[in-house]
Amino acid sequence: MTPFYIAGRPATSDDVVDIRHPFDGRVVGRTAYATPEQVETAVAAATAAANVAAALPASARAAALDHVSARLKERAEEVARLITAENGKPVKWSRGEVGRAVSTFRWAAEEARRFSGSVQRLDTDPAATGRMAFVKRVPRGPVLGISPFNFPLNLVAHKVAPAIAVGAPIVLKPAPATPLSALLLGEILAETELPEGMWSVVPVPNDRASALVADPRLPVVSFTGSGPVGWQIRDAVPRKHVTLELGGNAAVVVCADWDDLDWAATRIATFSNYQAGQSCIAVQRVYVHERHYDAVADKLVAAVEAQRTGDPSDDATDVGPLISEAAAERVEAWVNEAVAAGAKLLTGGARDGAAYAPTVLAGAPVATKVVAEEVFGPVLVLERITSDEEGFAAVNDSQYGLQAGVFTRRLDRAFEAHRVLDVGGVIVGDVPSYRADQMPYGGSKASGVGREGLASAMADYTEERVMVLTGL
Ligand code: NAD
Repeated sequence: MTPFYIAGRPATSDDVVDIRHPFDGRVVGRTAYATPEQVETAVAAATAAANVAAALPASARAAALDHVSARLKERAEEVARLITAENGKPVKWSRGEVGRAVSTFRWAAEEARRFSGSVQRLDTDPAATGRMAFVKRVPRGPVLGISPFNFPLNLVAHKVAPAIAVGAPIVLKPAPATPLSALLLGEILAETELPEGMWSVVPVPNDRASALVADPRLPVVSFTGSGPVGWQIRDAVPRKHVTLELGGNAAVVVCADWDDLDWAATRIATFSNYQAGQSCIAVQRVYVHERHYDAVADKLVAAVEAQRTGDPSDDATDVGPLISEAAAERVEAWVNEAVAAGAKLLTGGARDGAAYAPTVLAGAPVATKVVAEEVFGPVLVLERITSDEEGFAAVNDSQYGLQAGVFTRRLDRAFEAHRVLDVGGVIVGDVPSYRADQMPYGGSKASGVGREGLASAMADYTEERVMVLTGL
């Protein structure tokens, strides 16, 4: 039985949960839900630790973060296998996720060392002659981190690392299907000398998570997950500082000037299917200039058909199962809806249990779910455009705005895309699925509010407190 962590200490309960491998349903681990009393202990300890945590020197915060980074690196293969076992993503992608988490903690350590405030002169106003403002960032208070199943380690790292970096206690609630990676991280955190109460990892069912959201002792809520749950949380606690990292239907434009169609087709095929499309920035909508459309369509279908499906534990597998059979059935229904509405199925379109074949659709009507909603499966929709501007307009014709990709070598096109696209990030010369963990990351419109990325999250978890010095 894998323990959970209450105020930094291992704990368990009788409310046992088995964690199953999405590929074959076998039990790969066992943990338990924290009881309401245990959750209360975690929240009370976080509250009590707030002042001690805020006073921790940067050297101590950075040392703890460096330790976690180093230990994840040492245990990388074991952690990658665990991610694959509980999440079903191909082990090569799990290795990539562990590598990113190693960097996330290392970046956080570096940011902790330089995280500081500012000094502002006030005597630009004659009435303030002799005055100066000393501005320090202080934690807003204990953080509630809620994470999704699709990156069960690195998205947990994006909640926990910035909290430690600024000296804010955190209570982390992992996704019900994938708590084991977060609990392994807890095992490593327990090796550090962070003060008692500074961190807890509490698997709880969703109804108990709502109680955590409502708890006034956790004034910061950092949520990554689906839109309906995220917006409901924000509405439930309007006075809290809430960050929402939600879904999307990421789009890419292959512009008229683009010359390397093989690269574009390979990248699009890879990143519409990585993790079986279960990434908030997986490529879903592809707009190709008519000059390249037929060539890209052929190359894309070939590249998608070259994706190897199967057992995610196998090093050669590119595309594993979805998180559950129900998720694959939903994707199947959405593809069938699009085909019934007139979309052409260029490849794929078959389901086997929780696995769904990498699928390319062309000409899907904009109102169909595979275009308008977040597919969160290995499906892309291809559309012909007659100008780059038409492509940019199509990207924006969405309720979402997380990231977009633009294949162009023209600097003016790149700046135009950056100016007009209503998204959190524009990736030039590549797919929208690119994310570097230190850069600001987040969405506009229904994709969320606020930004993650170490420095951004650290700013988010803190607020400025000014001291005005007089008589200088
Ligand atoms: P989900 O919304 O079902 O669950 C996310 C988390 O919220 C889980 O831990 C879940 O237990 C918890 N939760 C559910 N109901 C709750 C409630 N009432 N109160 C408090 N917590 C509650 O999402 P998921 O299926 O785990 O993840 C997939 C979604 O996450 C997709 O929409 C994807 O796009 C999004 N996502 C976004 C980003 C990003 O950075 N923008 C990254 C990864 C995933």
